[in-house]
Amino acid sequence: MELLKQKILDCGRALNDHVLLVDSFLNHQVDVKLMREVGREFARLFADADIDRVVTIESSGITPAAMTALEMDLPMVIMKKSVSSILNEGILQTDVFSFTKNAPYLLTLKSEFIHPGDRVLLIDDFLANGEACFGAARLLRQAGAQLAGIGIVIAKAFQPGLKKLRSAGYRVEVLAPVSRMDEGHIEFGDVK
Ligand code: 5GP
Repeated sequence: MELLKQKILDCGRALNDHVLLVDSFLNHQVDVKLMREVGREFARLFADADIDRVVTIESSGITPAAMTALEMDLPMVIMKKSVSSILNEGILQTDVFSFTKNAPYLLTLKSEFIHPGDRVLLIDDFLANGEACFGAARLLRQAGAQLAGIGIVIAKAFQPGLKKLRSAGYRVEVLAPVSRMDEGHIEFGDVK
């Protein structure tokens, strides 16, 4: 998606060769017009996938997922990263290792919001090692749903997640695949 790639070049910052900062338009301040285009692009890419529900992981996946759900006219569900005292009935949980916090967290889903047999589209902001996506896939499997597609806004294609998810048989569409980066330098390119 050229608009997104240009935004990353203009406003993103590679901190080093493995962390990309995009907090001026995706992770902290949000460019909602750009996210609307992101939603339109995911809706176009997954138009043939017969999706019942869009799922994301809080917090930075929420805007692109909401725009996608709006565009596809589908319900959206948020998987939670923090345990809450009001979220204790009918929940499914799995341990996920966080790339940014370098520590595990409990990914949590209230099972009533996913129906057995649902074909689910998972949308997330970043893909690195694939821990978050594999965790979400485990919860969806526990709920009896099928992970029919994964839409990623930015994937660092040189890190293992993208290859691992595709090798596991998942359909992964990436709007901005980064093939290489280092301080002050970002290159795009997918892996097959
Ligand atoms: P994974 O689970 O694939 O290892 O990492 C994906 C999650 O870590 C994403 O949901 C995102 O929150 C975070 N993440 C991974 N890499 C980056 C990065 O380079 N920049 C930012 N801002 N977040 C990242």
